[in-house]
Amino acid sequence: MTYDIQPTASHFIDGHYVEDTSGTPIPVICPVSEEQIAIVYAATPAIIEQALAAATHAQGAWAAMTGTQRGRVLRRAADIMRDRNYDLSVLETNDTGKPLQETLVADATSGADALEYFGGLAGSLTGEHIQLGDDFVYTRREALGVCVGIGAWNYPTQIAAWKAAPALACGNSMVFKPSEQTPLCALKVAEILHEAGAPAGIYNVVQGMGEVGQALITDPRVDKVSLTGSVPTGRKVYAAAAAGIRHVTMELGGKSPIVIFDDADLEDAVSGAILGNFYSSGQVCSNGTRVFVQSGIKEAFLNRLSERLKDVKMGDPLDESVNFGPLVSERQMGIVQGFIAKGIAEGARLVAGGKRQGDLGYFLQPTVFADVTDDMTIATDEIFGPVMSVLDFEDEDDVLIRANATDFGLAAGVFTNDLGRAHRMVAGFEAGTTYINTYNVAPVEAPFGGSKLSGVGRENSKAAIDHYSQLKSVYVGMAPVEAPF
Ligand code: NDP
Repeated sequence: MTYDIQPTASHFIDGHYVEDTSGTPIPVICPVSEEQIAIVYAATPAIIEQALAAATHAQGAWAAMTGTQRGRVLRRAADIMRDRNYDLSVLETNDTGKPLQETLVADATSGADALEYFGGLAGSLTGEHIQLGDDFVYTRREALGVCVGIGAWNYPTQIAAWKAAPALACGNSMVFKPSEQTPLCALKVAEILHEAGAPAGIYNVVQGMGEVGQALITDPRVDKVSLTGSVPTGRKVYAAAAAGIRHVTMELGGKSPIVIFDDADLEDAVSGAILGNFYSSGQVCSNGTRVFVQSGIKEAFLNRLSERLKDVKMGDPLDESVNFGPLVSERQMGIVQGFIAKGIAEGARLVAGGKRQGDLGYFLQPTVFADVTDDMTIATDEIFGPVMSVLDFEDEDDVLIRANATDFGLAAGVFTNDLGRAHRMVAGFEAGTTYINTYNVAPVEAPFGGSKLSGVGRENSKAAIDHYSQLKSVYVGMAPVEAPF
């Protein structure tokens, strides 16, 4: 079987690639070479209509198949995705700038995990039976209908697959709009799903900016909206979805804490802080960017972190020994540089990085600030770049209050060897996804999502099924009907 490594048109609708060059051109810029590697065109109203019509038309027959039949398609798609992992990873690296070392293990593979997991679950989705004397009620677990998925730019293959897998397993169809920064990978997810046997129209991809997203989520044919994006976008999307009383999943931003106690394993704590701040050059929603370090371990932590930072290798992300890539765009680099300047201006102590690296590509050095206080901008705002803020603390109760003193609630982590304290801390964290002695792992088997402003609903795990299906109660009367007159 041969296949094109690059998508061959801007949109994927009703089982095939569709082009419409009358839409606004969106150049795809490689963050390393700063060259244009592709161009896609934003969806016109005609393209949006085609996609929604295809999804609406296809959904009923898909939902009428057995779960096992739907699951088989998803599991086949998972296999194809794994077979093509290398090429998909190269595409994603070119699109996002993330090192191939990362994309090979964390994007298409994680998308394949979701397709395999929900493919496996599809055949076991059921309602329940409730006996009421002779009468009884049974519930039917039904699809919601047409879902709209909207993705952020940091994990374009993973996000597309994480939304497709539970949606399709439950019998829904989907129209997915990737971020305009990284539009290519979702098209490959659509192509693979259809190659695996998904009927035409079950999973469609259209390109465009926020207006295309708005047009999709306000269409009366749409039953559910799942967004991965920032809190400001989440507010707009949630409000638009609410006007039509649509179901939502909101996977939004964060400013998560990692709390490191004196008794923690130093090497693990440093590794956790590195993973939680510098993986994907810091462009990860669940990053633990407020690193609270207890005073007794602070100097050892900062020293060991500085040593470990000597092993950062920046450069061509297609070189598999490179472990640190550029930011996704010049704009994002500028935003992060602005936060670094603010950190310095507000009195935080810059202990590593802080500068652009080279003058080609959007590379910023991994940056560490120490002596950060809770009110500094770098400690309150989501930066979405490689900037770690280290804050001091003495006392468990006090650090928990400070860790929770944010409107975000996506993730939180604790490093300690005191078992009781570890469980007390995670019980106290106001966050949807928490970690003890590790950080930023997101296996498909575990629910992932945020509390407070970081989101609504959960992705992955059996919990996602409840967000892509609804229960219909069927009351069955077995006795004569009694009426008052
Ligand atoms: P944005 O919120 O800027 O965009 C997210 C998506 O929403 C994009 O596809 C964007 O389109 C689209 N969009 C923007 N405005 C609207 C609108 N009014 N109506 C409908 N759609 C709209 O996020 P980024 O792409 O900058 O991604 C970074 C953010 O995503 C961070 O806050 C990060 O924390 C969060 N994120 C959350 C994750 C989670 O699981 N909780 C995971 C990954 C990221 P376009 O950009 O093309 O205009």
